[in-house]
Amino acid sequence: MVRELCNERDFDLIIAGAGPAGAALAYKMASTGARTLLLEKADFPGQTRPWVVDVEESCFSRGNIPPPEKDSLWKKASRHFLSTSDLTTMTEIGESPLISIKNDSYIREIVSRAKRRGVKLLCGREAISPLIHKDSVVGVEVVDSNGNKEKILAKIVADCTGISAAIRSQTPDHWKMNESIELKDIVYAKRETRRIQKDLDAEEVPCLPYAPGVRIDRSGVRGAYSIESVFIDIEESFIDILVGVKADRGGRSACSELIENIIQKMPYVGEVIYGGEAPIPIRNPIECPVGNGILSLGDSAFQAVPMHGSGFASAVIAAEIASRSIIQAIESKRYTRQVLWKYASEFNRGRGAILTYYDVLRKNVESMNAYEIDKMIRSRIISEEETLTGLSVRPFPASPLYIAKKIVRGGALFRPLLRFGIAGGLARMAYRKYRKYPDSYNHEAFEKWKKSFPV
Ligand SMILES: Cc1cc2nc3c(=O)[nH]c(=O)nc-3n(C[C@H](O)[C@H](O)[C@H](O)COP(=O)(O)OP(=O)(O)OC[C@H]3O[C@@H](n4cnc5c(N)ncnc54)[C@H](O)[C@@H]3O)c2cc1C
Repeated sequence: MVRELCNERDFDLIIAGAGPAGAALAYKMASTGARTLLLEKADFPGQTRPWVVDVEESCFSRGNIPPPEKDSLWKKASRHFLSTSDLTTMTEIGESPLISIKNDSYIREIVSRAKRRGVKLLCGREAISPLIHKDSVVGVEVVDSNGNKEKILAKIVADCTGISAAIRSQTPDHWKMNESIELKDIVYAKRETRRIQKDLDAEEVPCLPYAPGVRIDRSGVRGAYSIESVFIDIEESFIDILVGVKADRGGRSACSELIENIIQKMPYVGEVIYGGEAPIPIRNPIECPVGNGILSLGDSAFQAVPMHGSGFASAVIAAEIASRSIIQAIESKRYTRQVLWKYASEFNRGRGAILTYYDVLRKNVESMNAYEIDKMIRSRIISEEETLTGLSVRPFPASPLYIAKKIVRGGALFRPLLRFGIAGGLARMAYRKYRKYPDSYNHEAFEKWKKSFPV
């Protein structure tokens, strides 16, 4: 039994999980004076997230948080290519909209700023369930590494626990926010930085086209939704390898196998000096990311980009939008779904609509095999323009004229192109559905919206 709750709340806000979403939200709340507790199950923020992330540079201004400082910045490739899986064709990607940062280092940077401005950080505590009282979340139960349990009360709880969605997944069915994820909607990613021989000469890099300073992204190595990316830096003596494979196509073990295959061909590659691995959700965002006293952000709300699994920018953007709803709720002393709905609506009408667009596209093209994808890159159906559009997370300009031009260019690829064209049309419909996400909570309006187009 939760103790007398209504007047006695330990915190205004509990943020469960100090990944990019939780860290950004803590930073935003710090300046408001709200009593905020950031809970992290690892021993320190970023401990379990040590990998390089390629991030839309614009997300720092959109999320209104400081850009990474020197220690968090990662080396940029001098040239960046998209390649066929057989490495015979390369498309040079122009000025990339992405910057590469050290995920854990940036998380720590933001959390320490939040701490300096009054946010309380509690590490080594796993949030195991929401505390629910009179149909509203009023806190969380946590457990430490010795198995000691504790109940902590708050007016609002933000679930930022990543794909496990530890808190929102235990909310009552009638709140409609406990959607689960299926294996087919998960990609497994692994990114490793390994030391390479110090006195290595550029000419000694035998595995062409992995030239020093050049990043090569091989698409479709294990079906449409897979990537293998390599970047060698001779001056700094490291190689950076990123692989991603859908969970239902081998996931974790396929990732390890791909990395093994790469390093076997490079005798000068040594031990791992930085890196990590984890599953990422690649489906449309959950339809209802808020309930009474609770919001869900980042991977816990499936807000990663379904086409390439990038979740950092969405998490930061979600934190900016959520913070405004949370402040409004605290100021008005109303912590209901209706008040928090502004976050659901603003996110889903904007970023959520684009993520949904990419989810429909993904579902419709992921049955393509490596041969078809290679042909599309070779005939420039997937060109620099398409790659940049995908990386900047904007919808493709898929007008009938655009598709017709591609069909003319694609020739023999009529069938996959037609599939691509149909997928584009369906994706546009899904996009429009999310643009019309209800702007305030009303049960009938929400149910009607849900049924309006099957995503
Ligand atoms: C190898 C790899 C490469 C990637 N590359 C990119 C990339 O290039 N670009 C990009 O944008 N994205 C990339 N991603 C995805 C990106 O890392 C995630 O989308 C992003 O981290 C999601 O942020 P989040 O805060 O929602 O969740 P997470 O990063 O998963 O953070 C969740 C946090 O909550 C903590 N936690 C979990 N459960 C609990 C609990 N019950 N109680 C308390 N704490 C808890 C975890 O320890 C963690 O610190 C990559 C992912 C991987 C695995």
